[in-house]
Amino acid sequence: FAHFSGGRHIVMVKGIFSIPAKQRWRYEVLSEMTYPFSLPKLPYAYDALEPYIDADTMYFHHDKHFQAYVDNLNAALEGYPVFQSWSLEQLLGGLEALPEGLRTAVRNNGGGVYNHWLYFDLMTPQIQGNPQVFPPVFGQKEKLEALLKQAAMGIFGSGFAWLAADGRGRLSILALANQDNPLSYGFYPILPLDVWEHAYYLKYQNLRGNYIDNWFQVANWTKAAGRLSASGLHLL
Ligand code: MN
Repeated sequence: FAHFSGGRHIVMVKGIFSIPAKQRWRYEVLSEMTYPFSLPKLPYAYDALEPYIDADTMYFHHDKHFQAYVDNLNAALEGYPVFQSWSLEQLLGGLEALPEGLRTAVRNNGGGVYNHWLYFDLMTPQIQGNPQVFPPVFGQKEKLEALLKQAAMGIFGSGFAWLAADGRGRLSILALANQDNPLSYGFYPILPLDVWEHAYYLKYQNLRGNYIDNWFQVANWTKAAGRLSASGLHLL
């Protein structure tokens, strides 16, 4: 972690997973995107997460901010054909292998692309009168939400709180600055909580805590559990 340890804060949550020594997780299940990257379609309408996240925020966040990370990542990779066949997982998991002139751009904009792809993909409209199922694999819902919120509130400036699994398979909460991704620290990313101001400022202004409380209403826990099982990590 030597190169990327600044600002990282980790809480181990629960659970021991068994991981074969040489297989930590299966990169290929995460995504198959390579250069030139394009903006993934929003998997629901802009207003689908109302009243928890407003349509204007969703539009600017997805169509403008996310698009900018895509454009900037493509521009950075344009001059490095050797790395154009690398997936985002390879790029973010192998930052130290990248030339210095490319590394920071990938860390920030590659992270921006990957983090936002997951963020939008792992939210879902609430089904009226039918609360989402919280998979038991994550333990107690209230406790996990409290830990995620604590991590997210503790981020000074911009960043994400993450539900992730560490290299030994323990379920972890990470607070990472800017667009850093768990892959760069040897963690498998499960669920991202974006606390950049662009994720909530239009509706919530400075009230990050209110945004987080409402974000839990649209977090797709079922899909998060699906990511965990697709990763090849197994609960003992
Ligand atoms: Mn964002």
